[in-house]
Amino acid sequence: MNQDHVPAANAIDNLIQELNKLPGIGPKSAQRLTYYLLRAPDEQTRLLAEAILSIKQKISLCSTCFNVTDADPCLICRSDRRDRTQICVVEQPQDILALEHTGIYKGLYHVLHGAISPTEGVGANDVRIKELTNRLQEGTVNEVILGTNPNLEGEQTAMYLNHLIAPLGIRVTRLARGLPFGTELEYADDTTLTRAIEGRQEF
Ligand SMILES: [Zn+2]
Repeated sequence: MNQDHVPAANAIDNLIQELNKLPGIGPKSAQRLTYYLLRAPDEQTRLLAEAILSIKQKISLCSTCFNVTDADPCLICRSDRRDRTQICVVEQPQDILALEHTGIYKGLYHVLHGAISPTEGVGANDVRIKELTNRLQEGTVNEVILGTNPNLEGEQTAMYLNHLIAPLGIRVTRLARGLPFGTELEYADDTTLTRAIEGRQEF
């Protein structure tokens, strides 16, 4: 048996295992990507490895809206072209990407980093709800658009937020009405999302 073969195979197995942990990458894809990278130019694999490391080293959360950012506050919170009277509440940073892609929403955002889910033991204090109500205390916001996912957890979270925000005299609307139930915002197409923003209803 070739002694040199063992560590090389381990390195290959390691990468296959790590890639296999990523969402949407099954064992077959992990294997295909690994052998692709093995044949790819050194420069390409180095850039990939650096890009992966730098999202952990350089990206943090905006201290205002909790979107991912490389500068605090983030570009959206800093912009003077955004409507500061509206906040759209979403579950994940990638939901902002989807909404921004439509180009129709000009307000601010707030990322909860999750949704309330009693079955999974996620309560109101486990997501960024307190930070949202703190922002609302400033008094500049007159509409909160609930953009949580149109599924069970998203609806529960929207209901909880409505109970919390409506008594403050702030208009509460629900973005996801019209989006098919059980979907996630980040996978909705531009047309559906645009309709959901334009056709948002009072909660
Ligand atoms: Zn921000």
